[in-house]
Amino acid sequence: MEIASVGVIGAGQMGNGIAQVCAVSGLAVTLVDVNEAALEKARATMAKNLDRQVAKGTIQAADKEAALGRIAAGTDMAALGGCDIVIEAATEREELKRKIFEGLCPKLKPGAILASNTSSISITRLATATDRPGRFIGMHFFNPVPVMKLVEVIRGIATEEAAVQAVEVLAKRLGKTVATAEDYPGFIVNRILMPMINEAITTLQEGVGDVTSIDTAMKLGTNQPMGPLELADFIGLDTCLAIMRVLHEGLGDSKYRPSPLLVKYVDAGWLGRKTGKGFYDYSGETPKPAR
Ligand code: NAD
Repeated sequence: MEIASVGVIGAGQMGNGIAQVCAVSGLAVTLVDVNEAALEKARATMAKNLDRQVAKGTIQAADKEAALGRIAAGTDMAALGGCDIVIEAATEREELKRKIFEGLCPKLKPGAILASNTSSISITRLATATDRPGRFIGMHFFNPVPVMKLVEVIRGIATEEAAVQAVEVLAKRLGKTVATAEDYPGFIVNRILMPMINEAITTLQEGVGDVTSIDTAMKLGTNQPMGPLELADFIGLDTCLAIMRVLHEGLGDSKYRPSPLLVKYVDAGWLGRKTGKGFYDYSGETPKPAR
């Protein structure tokens, strides 16, 4: 199963990054979004990111133009009919993703692989909205896609080995390293990362340390580039809460209970960097603890 053409659904933060790395590696890319403005923004983001790579000397100016030339963008799902693989990176809502797959499958080539970049929804369950559970798979990229080296490949209960192998070859071609995971809530990275972030928030809630001491302790004490609270702000506190709920419901163990303080921040609309305030306040020159 050789992959030469890639479809990407959703031109948001993740979709535009996936489209960009595929195009840079020489693949023909079709990027589809319901929202014309999202496509415009994605084009501008990809051009800006590639300009940065040209400035750094990692690619030539001609490579940038060639990569952008390999990306066709539009709002019509029918354009994905010729793709060898389609990677879905639309909004994280199960009903929405199911609807996309139901509409898309009749348009796909019979042998095409369908992958989802979902952070938390069961691959096995999403596969039931498709006509190809054997060729349905999780391909979980990390943000920002051009920078982060990992792709978590998630095997649903029906996913065939040939699909796993094809996706691994594709990920390597994109310069990524693969870690394969079975389909359980949170897969590998979020299963381990989110309880750590949640525990950091409980540690703050209990007054064991303040924002600065918790992040300093974890950065310097465990050699992480970002402290857990800073990282939570970067990911988005609503996203962290949604993933904790998936772990709590899916695994049924009270150790995954979302921290009440995390719930409070989300209720306040303090969602992290994207709203200008989370555990840190981003309104000044340098982020300061919000409280
Ligand atoms: P985003 O909100 O930036 O982008 C989502 C895009 O999907 C939007 O442009 C929206 O217009 C589009 N969309 C909505 N409905 C659509 C439809 N019916 N057809 C086509 N496009 C549609 O979201 P994101 O952060 O890029 O996340 C996308 C997916 O990637 C989610 O499943 C998320 O869980 C996953 N993910 C996100 C991250 C992250 O850090 N943001 C990391 C890994 C995986």
